Amino acid sequence: MKHNILKLLVLALIFVGCKNEKSTEAASDEVSTNETTEVNVYTHRHYPADQDLFTQFEKQTGIKVNVVNASADELMQKMTQEGAQSPADVLITVDAGRLVRAKDKGLLQSIDSKILNEIIPSNLKDKDNQWFALTKRARVIAYAKDRIKPEQLSTYEDLATDKWKNKILVRSSQNIYNQSLMASIIANDGEGKAKSWAERVVDNMAREPKGNDRDQIKAVVAGEGDIAIVNTYYIGKLLNSKNPEEIKAGEGIGIFFPNQENRGTHINISGAGVAKYAPNKANAIKFLEFLISKEAQDVFATVNYEYPVNPEAKTSELLKSWGDFKEDNVDLSLLGENNKKAVLLFDEAGWK
Ligand code: FE
Repeated sequence: MKHNILKLLVLALIFVGCKNEKSTEAASDEVSTNETTEVNVYTHRHYPADQDLFTQFEKQTGIKVNVVNASADELMQKMTQEGAQSPADVLITVDAGRLVRAKDKGLLQSIDSKILNEIIPSNLKDKDNQWFALTKRARVIAYAKDRIKPEQLSTYEDLATDKWKNKILVRSSQNIYNQSLMASIIANDGEGKAKSWAERVVDNMAREPKGNDRDQIKAVVAGEGDIAIVNTYYIGKLLNSKNPEEIKAGEGIGIFFPNQENRGTHINISGAGVAKYAPNKANAIKFLEFLISKEAQDVFATVNYEYPVNPEAKTSELLKSWGDFKEDNVDLSLLGENNKKAVLLFDEAGWK
């Protein structure tokens, strides 16, 4: 009897001991992985599709996404001012030129993610893994279907010839999309040729640069000029607009991918990086991995008409209807590095 009681006591002690061990294990787990339940996203993108994706991420992971929305320059300035106290975990912006700028300002950090490394092609990410492309956009020539035949078009360089006198519509050179296009022309043709290209395009403009890419397409359809230089997804947005005038503008133009016989059509990206002082770094990486997952990339392609960077993702029917094209595979970091030169040459060429 005494023996049995002793046995029971020993068993009970072992049981309690085990339980304690388990609970301390769990507690130390929490401390060592420093798990947090939120991620702070500074983003320049302002599309409803993005918000839907953020909500999806929250549901999948239980990590709350706090969004700060502003222009890229404002966000970078905010991060600079906040310094090491910055709550920013992720910076999302459009255009490689801006991502290079963020890296140069020391606002981002290198991260090591097997998923990001494997999925994103090397020309679409920073060599130190400080930023990564999320989507691609092509800068194409939109032409008036009723006046221009695609056979008349060929390259960006050809836009500098006399045949396009008073026919070209394009936005201001202050815009980063044009600066990156110019940076790619500098990379390919050299500074001298790039400058004279810009001068001649200015001569060929149908009007002084004004408005955004969508306005250029509307002006082509209204007959102010015959061709416009625009990003592809704006055409998708016009075609799917609620405004009948915009749909008409989208339907009135054809899409031409320049430079198919040589380096390929200029593409740019929307991309993201993990902030230098990210308080929730692990969540930031999870968040970026989610954004390049097949399911998220499908949304970018079907709802926002951007080209996915994940080859597994399906392209939308609309993007498919525009056809496959050869992309200019210039290292996107070079677009950032050539940005200052591009701005200067535009200025000298009188491109407002
Ligand atoms: Fe845009």
